[in-house]
Amino acid sequence: MRIKVLGCYGGQLLGFRLTSLLVNDSILLDAGAPTHALSLEEQHGIRHICLSHTHLDHIKDIAFLADNRSLKRLGDSAGSSDNRTITVHSLAENNRVLKQHFFNDLIWPDFTQIPNREDAILRLTDIEPESPFDIDGVRITAIRVNHPVPCTGFLLDRGGKQVIYTADTGNTDRIWQIANAQPNLKAIIMDCSFPNAYQHLADISGHLTPNGMMKDLKKLEQLGSMPVYLYHMKPESLNIMAAEVEALDVPHLRMLTQVDELLI
Ligand SMILES: [Zn+2]
Ligand SMILES: [Zn+2]
Repeated sequence: MRIKVLGCYGGQLLGFRLTSLLVNDSILLDAGAPTHALSLEEQHGIRHICLSHTHLDHIKDIAFLADNRSLKRLGDSAGSSDNRTITVHSLAENNRVLKQHFFNDLIWPDFTQIPNREDAILRLTDIEPESPFDIDGVRITAIRVNHPVPCTGFLLDRGGKQVIYTADTGNTDRIWQIANAQPNLKAIIMDCSFPNAYQHLADISGHLTPNGMMKDLKKLEQLGSMPVYLYHMKPESLNIMAAEVEALDVPHLRMLTQVDELLI
């Protein structure tokens, strides 16, 4: 499994892109950055988006991906493109929010009906927590986490190797139980948004600080021997947070960067 980091920050600033991870060129975990980070041809390779929740920093590029895909289809002779549809996999309550508040012909065109309902650019597929589904050779399981809106992390399994992406979360339990139950877990990608001085803000917004993150990491049986990659850092606080993470002195724990490509 190849996971290319397209964006890994919890804020958008010049040179800092929002959360988005590309798995094996065709599956996107959250859509904060693909149209900033990928060429048009690479964007056309995306067939699925696993969407953790509906906060804007995770959904915004679904709008521009869909727009770019519609132009691609118009340009294709007789609809020859293989990747005509982008399927969004998310909780039913999230898909309802996308439909009512985003793809509603007010904020953005309703690409679930364009060019027509039967062969639309965008398809919204409801998923159930802890009910695995297979897309493009990857088995994916959504796991509920702790955020102010409905949100799931994802367990990815390909070729008998597993990776967990916590998505945006405060302290939580279930995903760590599932992590510990995996036969061959290779890496964790987890929320770490604010420096320790902002603990209150982290608590009310459903995110983690380095100290809060450490509380959760202690639930992981393989802590210290398994790579743990942090994402969703606020770019303004990056230097402070880097020092705080380093002070924790946990082997194989580090912040993701936008040039990372993880081979699992
Ligand atoms: Zn969020
Ligand atoms: Zn976020």
